[in-house]
Amino acid sequence: MRQTEAIPRSWVVAPWLNSLWDGINLKACPNAVLIHGRPGIGKYDFAITLAKALLCEGSGGAIKKPCNACEACRWFDTGNHPDFVGLVPETHRRFLPSEVLEGAESDAGGSKKTKAVKDDEGDSAEKKEKKNITIEDARSAIQTLSIGTHRGGNRVVLVYPLEALRSEAANTLLKSLEEPPSGTIFILVTSRLDRVLPTIRSRCRLLAAPPPDHVNGLAWLKEKIAAQNAIKVSGDELETIFYEQGGAPYAVFEFLTAKHHQNEKDELFISIQASRYLLQGLAQGSRINWLDVAEKTHKASFADLLGAMQRWLADVQGSSQAATVRFYPKHAKTIHTLGQQIRLEKLLRLSKLVTQARRHENHPLATRIQLESLLMQYQQLFQD
Ligand SMILES: [Zn+2]
Repeated sequence: MRQTEAIPRSWVVAPWLNSLWDGINLKACPNAVLIHGRPGIGKYDFAITLAKALLCEGSGGAIKKPCNACEACRWFDTGNHPDFVGLVPETHRRFLPSEVLEGAESDAGGSKKTKAVKDDEGDSAEKKEKKNITIEDARSAIQTLSIGTHRGGNRVVLVYPLEALRSEAANTLLKSLEEPPSGTIFILVTSRLDRVLPTIRSRCRLLAAPPPDHVNGLAWLKEKIAAQNAIKVSGDELETIFYEQGGAPYAVFEFLTAKHHQNEKDELFISIQASRYLLQGLAQGSRINWLDVAEKTHKASFADLLGAMQRWLADVQGSSQAATVRFYPKHAKTIHTLGQQIRLEKLLRLSKLVTQARRHENHPLATRIQLESLLMQYQQLFQD
């Protein structure tokens, strides 16, 4: 039987990332690894487990690291390991190991409420700043590298998510990546490999994290939810959300946790709720009320909205050309109907626009107007 939530929390590598894990030689780890892959598939848990394993001092023949029993592992779990540096934006600090005990039934939900409320009070420039890794943070992290390690073993610097590192901060980091102090290992994590500076990318060993297939992803999710006990969701509903989120089990799990805690200010919650709303709108085809959809969704992450739109358009296109629906099988019937109604050349043009918008998704100008424009053009797909 599974115990109630371990406190402080510990991390496990998702089953679909096991083969990636097995390929890592902890004794000969490169000085910089860049873990990349789709959002919501467990890259962070993988990265933090790797950090812990690299610092683990457990010894003996067949020991599997992290051993979760040695002093170093215990320090790590409570956020007290002196040779671990977590370089994350303020919005992501709650993911780091910490002594703060989370609620017994939740991995991450407990402390979020206050945080989100606090965020809401700040102005938007400040809010934006919190999402970035600042140059000050980068500098102070790098400074700690100039002295030897406290334990005489490895030192690990985790940068997560890498896309939160703005250019000045990236330059600061780059110098250390070029000549890493001995024993220092950088673990960088990103969902957007295409946005990583070539100068950073070229200095790292790339580790591609594969997404789970649908059967395994869904099975993992079901198991995780069953273990939580508190989250109530029907199998059917779960499958729908899972597909809607492009098969990203971690994202779905966090969404359900936030929902359970009625943490409606949680960013991920807003985002998933909004993308569901968006999909309902898109399913309306020519009858979409694009003003209303933009109104109800524009506060969510623009990147997530564009991602959902991209997947939807890909499905409509697939359905009109080859009768295949890849991302939203639950909406297959609707998508087939829409696929028969669209003008393909218009759809291709719109897909291109969405892809272009994704290049600026992290600092979009006037999200709402852009969204309205894209949705209005979506409506026009169905008109001559
Ligand atoms: Zn250990």
